Amino acid sequence: MRPMGCLFCKIVAREIPSQIVFENDHVLSFKDINPQAPTHALVIPKRHLTGIFDATDADADRQMLGELLTAGRQVAAQLGLDAKGYRLVINQGQDGGQSVHHLHLHVMGGRPMGWPPG
Ligand code: 5GP
Ligand code: ZN
Repeated sequence: MRPMGCLFCKIVAREIPSQIVFENDHVLSFKDINPQAPTHALVIPKRHLTGIFDATDADADRQMLGELLTAGRQVAAQLGLDAKGYRLVINQGQDGGQSVHHLHLHVMGGRPMGWPPG
């Protein structure tokens, strides 16, 4: 169910504009508004989940997680990141640094990434 006021649900509904880079029946991908790397896109499920913590072992959720990762690698390729590599990140909850509570996968590249992440 779509909660009132969810920013990313509003992006899915085209109520808030975004720079869309990829879309299929399950996911939407768009450029991050505050990029932390030269290339930084997000991939989100169209169905609202607050985070990966919300995904259950039900078939529909397993499929959705597969769609999210598959779209992540497609977006990375589309944005020209395959040659030098990239990072896929999911932040969950307070310690994970999650700020938007609609599950999303960060696709980041265009510079070498540090490890461990901050
Ligand atoms: P989190 O910190 O929850 O893992 O990531 C949320 C991401 O959403 C951040 O990188 C932030 O820049 C991005 N973001 C927040 N608001 C908007 C918005 O209105 N549009 C877009 N395109 N990205 C947003
Ligand atoms: Zn949402």
